[in-house]
Amino acid sequence: MNTGWQQCENQRCSCPGLSVHAYYADQFVLPLPSGHRFPMAKYRRLRERLATELPQVRMLEALPASAGELALVHTPDYIAAVGDGTLSPAAQREIGFPWSPAMAERARRSVGATLQACREAMTGGGVSANLAGGTHHAYADRGGGFCVFNDAAVAARLMQAEHSRRDRTSGPLQVAIIDLDVHQGNGTARIFARDASVFTLSMHGAKNFPFRKEPSDLDVDLPDACGDSAYLEALDHALDELERRFTPGLVIYLAGADPHEGDRLGRLKLSFDGLEARDRRVMDWAWQRRMPLAFAMAGGYGVDMETTLQVQMHTYRTAVEYQQRWQAMASRPPTATAVTATGAPHWQNAGA
Ligand SMILES: [Zn+2]
Repeated sequence: MNTGWQQCENQRCSCPGLSVHAYYADQFVLPLPSGHRFPMAKYRRLRERLATELPQVRMLEALPASAGELALVHTPDYIAAVGDGTLSPAAQREIGFPWSPAMAERARRSVGATLQACREAMTGGGVSANLAGGTHHAYADRGGGFCVFNDAAVAARLMQAEHSRRDRTSGPLQVAIIDLDVHQGNGTARIFARDASVFTLSMHGAKNFPFRKEPSDLDVDLPDACGDSAYLEALDHALDELERRFTPGLVIYLAGADPHEGDRLGRLKLSFDGLEARDRRVMDWAWQRRMPLAFAMAGGYGVDMETTLQVQMHTYRTAVEYQQRWQAMASRPPTATAVTATGAPHWQNAGA
């Protein structure tokens, strides 16, 4: 059983585990043509705002995912083509970025950030984050929609491998990927289509990109202009159904900011309060079941970039609140513990 909740898994970090660990790779800036619609600057701005406004978030530079880690999901030919710059022009157009060494490095680090966040959540304490990531349009053999590699998919597979090395008796780690970016997680759905150990839930705009969707384990199609109350009601139903069908030992949450009403691409009408309530529902759902949770930021294309950042700052404030609950629980000796079917420790004495 894991008793190391207060231990930071990052060797360079000596913090006592009192903070949300968040991994970044925004120093690898893609050279994009002028007028390109991808909001590259928002990643640096998020890190700057977190540094000044939310000291409970401890930021760490992400390490790059290795070729072997990427190969848990991606084909060797595709990994090699990204690495050595031999992606075809059509493949680069599909991704939406021209290839460059920085593009390849940033893609590997973005996966690395989610890997480290998942490992930290699993072994170090509750809630951790990637300041980017959520690249859910990437398939095993190709990218798409600003996504090169599928970070959540690689992380899910690597956490399963590490779990089975630690514990050979309790069966595979069950992972739920809760994808609330406004665009469907088509790559993730396809990658895990025949894998019962990973549950894919996607809530997205029915008429939005990608126009050819892949069946997830649970898809919730939302109409254009969907507002707070209809969205939150649909989310409650989706989480209920997830619970009926699956018991995860790890939750990976794609907290896209693009359902916000001020988003250029989202087509939905969620308010700041609605999105904060969304994040709270997901984090509370995981906390109530004592499931570690790692989140990635996924999409956000505000007409005004600051609205996207405001949504993301709310997500981090909520994460800090739940991380503090994990830490309060860790600081009390448990009166009784049991081990769940997934092998994750289940603490009986923790308050909600
Ligand atoms: Zn999106």
